[in-house]
Amino acid sequence: MHAVRNIRLCTKDCICLFVCPTGATDTENGQIDASKCLDGCRLCVHACPSHAIFLLPRAYATQQKKSGKTVDALRELAKSKARQEKLAQDLADTTDDPLVKQLATALVRSNRILQEDLHRESGFMLPQASITKDFLMEQLEKNTEDKSFPKEAVQRLLELL
Ligand code: SF4
Ligand code: SF4
Repeated sequence: MHAVRNIRLCTKDCICLFVCPTGATDTENGQIDASKCLDGCRLCVHACPSHAIFLLPRAYATQQKKSGKTVDALRELAKSKARQEKLAQDLADTTDDPLVKQLATALVRSNRILQEDLHRESGFMLPQASITKDFLMEQLEKNTEDKSFPKEAVQRLLELL
């Protein structure tokens, strides 16, 4: 196992910098240096007041093969979660009621997490999955005219995969 930091949750109070015995948490790019991490001693995980650090395995089991039908079903479910996220976001942006806003914001987040899980399950968020490369190639071809499409970032991603 090794520790990773969720930058979106990090409040930059630097407690993890003081507790880590190897300096793995103190990096220029804000990420924890996995090569210095002592296989998850957890000191930083317990010290972080924002719950921004968690442990990940160093190696993952190979993904089980799924039928095309299952992948299609997962994609449809992910699309439905995307629609629900948008509805909840619209509600959060327009309501004047603070409680409704809080509930809608929580729904936005939970739908996003579910979507990510569904995409991961169907192989789209696994760099080693060929489906990821196919999807990126398809997007590159589809969006040649669209100036807002992050073409260079996608090309770079393809180079790295
Ligand atoms: S202790 Fe947590 S919140 Fe503070 S800098 Fe480290 S990761 Fe960020
Ligand atoms: S788990 Fe331990 S060694 Fe790894 S980054 Fe956190 S404090 Fe440092």
